[in-house]
Amino acid sequence: MIARVIPLTSTRAIRGLFDYRLPAEFDGAGVGSLLRVPFAGRAILAVIAETAPSSEIPAERLATAQELLPARLPPDLVRLAIWMAAEYCSTPARALQVLLPAGAAQGLRETRVLVASITPAGISALEDGTRLTTGQRVALETLAVQPLPASQLGTQLLRRLESRGLATLDLAAQPRRPSTHTVSSSSASAPPLTAEQESALVPIREALDRADRSGTSRELQEFLLHGVTGSGKTEVYLQAAEATLQAGRGVIILVPEIALTPQALARFQARFGDVVAVMHSGMSAGKRNDEWLRLARGEATVCVGPRSAVFAPLADIGLIVVDEEHESSYKHESDPRYDARAVARRRAHDHGAVLLVGSATPRPESAFGTKRLRLAQRVDGRPLPAVEILDMRGLHNPLHPDTRLALADCRREGGKAIVLLNRRGWSNFLSCGSCGRVWICPNCDVALVLHRARGVVACHHCGHREQVPSNCPDCGSVSVARHGAGTERLEHELVSALAGDGFPVLRLDADAAGLDARARILERFHTAAAGVLVGTQMVAKGHDFADVGLGVVIDADQTLRFPDFRAEERTFALVTQLAGRTGRGSAGRVLVQTMEPAARPIALAAQHDSETFLRGELRRRKALAYPPFTTLIRIVCAAVDAGAARAAASALCDRISAAGGGQVASQFSVLGPASLFLLRGRARSQLVIKATDRTAAIAAIGDAVDAISTDRTHREVALSVDVDPQ
Ligand code: ADP
Ligand code: ZN
Ligand code: ZN
Repeated sequence: MIARVIPLTSTRAIRGLFDYRLPAEFDGAGVGSLLRVPFAGRAILAVIAETAPSSEIPAERLATAQELLPARLPPDLVRLAIWMAAEYCSTPARALQVLLPAGAAQGLRETRVLVASITPAGISALEDGTRLTTGQRVALETLAVQPLPASQLGTQLLRRLESRGLATLDLAAQPRRPSTHTVSSSSASAPPLTAEQESALVPIREALDRADRSGTSRELQEFLLHGVTGSGKTEVYLQAAEATLQAGRGVIILVPEIALTPQALARFQARFGDVVAVMHSGMSAGKRNDEWLRLARGEATVCVGPRSAVFAPLADIGLIVVDEEHESSYKHESDPRYDARAVARRRAHDHGAVLLVGSATPRPESAFGTKRLRLAQRVDGRPLPAVEILDMRGLHNPLHPDTRLALADCRREGGKAIVLLNRRGWSNFLSCGSCGRVWICPNCDVALVLHRARGVVACHHCGHREQVPSNCPDCGSVSVARHGAGTERLEHELVSALAGDGFPVLRLDADAAGLDARARILERFHTAAAGVLVGTQMVAKGHDFADVGLGVVIDADQTLRFPDFRAEERTFALVTQLAGRTGRGSAGRVLVQTMEPAARPIALAAQHDSETFLRGELRRRKALAYPPFTTLIRIVCAAVDAGAARAAASALCDRISAAGGGQVASQFSVLGPASLFLLRGRARSQLVIKATDRTAAIAAIGDAVDAISTDRTHREVALSVDVDPQ
């Protein structure tokens, strides 16, 4: 038998399938199996894409596969990788590398541990007065209930029992299960649904029924659950998942980031128990492998996780849920730059599954042309919090006087507040008071941000750090001015103004190292009776805190100043989502500080008017020919030498423009090359392609990128293609 494989190398130059002879003893191998094969003088991993009875390569030149690894990808994931490679102008090998589980190269072996069980002799020993030490008796009594890992009872003690024939010790598979989060408020059983939840579920249940019956028709049924914050979207997901499991099919639930939304996960585990598998980057590779295997074997039928969970190896998927579908974390920011929402749509289509995406602030793309289910009321019947816009023009303190008063009231009344400022660090940038020097990263043309507690100024792009300067290296002046406020400075101000016994001020941003640290900060705020949580957009994620009475957005127009067509959408979502954390369980109030009080996204978010916002946004996108009316594709050429980066970008531009039908009847237009700021010591030149014919543009760009990346004149240049950039 011949295996036609995709070798797992990351070079773009290697394309297509390679034939290998399969030795007879590899008879279990098939599409998706992992092989070790000789390739260019080395042994490398490869995935079987096809098998064939014979090869066109002459027998004497045909190499033989060396090893068959036990891990095997389901064939539909191999097809998915090939599709991703084309869709994101990447290669099948790179796509396979992102969807293979972490331990695939080691063969995905399960951990085996010593498991102790009691023998019939052991059971009699408990009753017939056999001499046992207290420890031995306790161990046997425990084992009489169920077998346990030996490490829990003491291996030495168990070895002695084994030698007396009272217990046995065997190596057995003992999956490393991720630790489960405790469910703080909700109970495991389903609450009676609200009328709105009930009517949202009707078409979803019908679609699930149809999908199940049609079996092989593989038609995509997609819904957008557009529900205000606190409207009980998760309960709708749970019920839809329940119906899917009852029909005997699997479920994937995508969430933005597990550590920031442990409650959603806990609710799925509480409802469905052991069939829930969890996969996220905070878990060890071993744990992830075990969860992957449980899904592949069908022992787990629900997978909950962030974007990579879209690759869960479920045999038959009936439902894919994308929670908080507006979150930018669904986009993978290295090659292949896939969008988990688009991959979810593709998988749902392949499996004949229902796709259910939900948000209080859906993307215009999702609202456009998708069947929309509305939840207009909060579950508890409370109104959405009142939002006041505070004009910051002419003020210099980061906090508006009204904000100070509101926070002081919150302190006095023992309430809880969340303060959002989407900027880390102490101050925005440093400048010299005499010569005007600004401290800039030597690798990336951006200002260094002061982190006072750590005594450094740091680059938020490449991580470069320097000691906090005491004087200016250019003119020697000691007057170094700090501009703007970040979360660190805000925390400091809030601590000195408010903090005290029983009123903690907690900070949550990317400086809180590790997912666990973040989860702990959230848990502390959750359990505290009163206090303030201050931080970046992380504080506005889907948390369900019952008792936050005050929400504050500092510098709400900051996200508007980004030169990006999504700036308005992001600003609207940020204000709406922060308001969404407020006023659950008690009346809420939200203060939005801004230099642009009349800006459309801010004014409409204050009125909780997502309908008008979406309508206006779609009109604007159409007028400017932005997604969903066109496809955007960004190509960045990076090189140490700015001339080289630009030359590659120009060469790409020429090829793509030619393929696009010239200037006249163009299916796509090419903008650029434009220079970007220096990043990690590399000059960058960018092209943006706006296409009305997505397929044609992707094909043309794929060809152009292949040509330029294998052209020796441009070998110093790294190319990166981003289809549907965020
Ligand atoms: P959303 O995701 O729409 O912001 P959640 O799903 O977090 O809202 O629900 C908000 C709260 O309402 C949660 O604490 C949830 O347990 C509760 N909840 C949801 N549905 C119901 C219901 N039908 N009856 C009572 N409580 C509910
Ligand atoms: Zn100076
Ligand atoms: Zn830098």
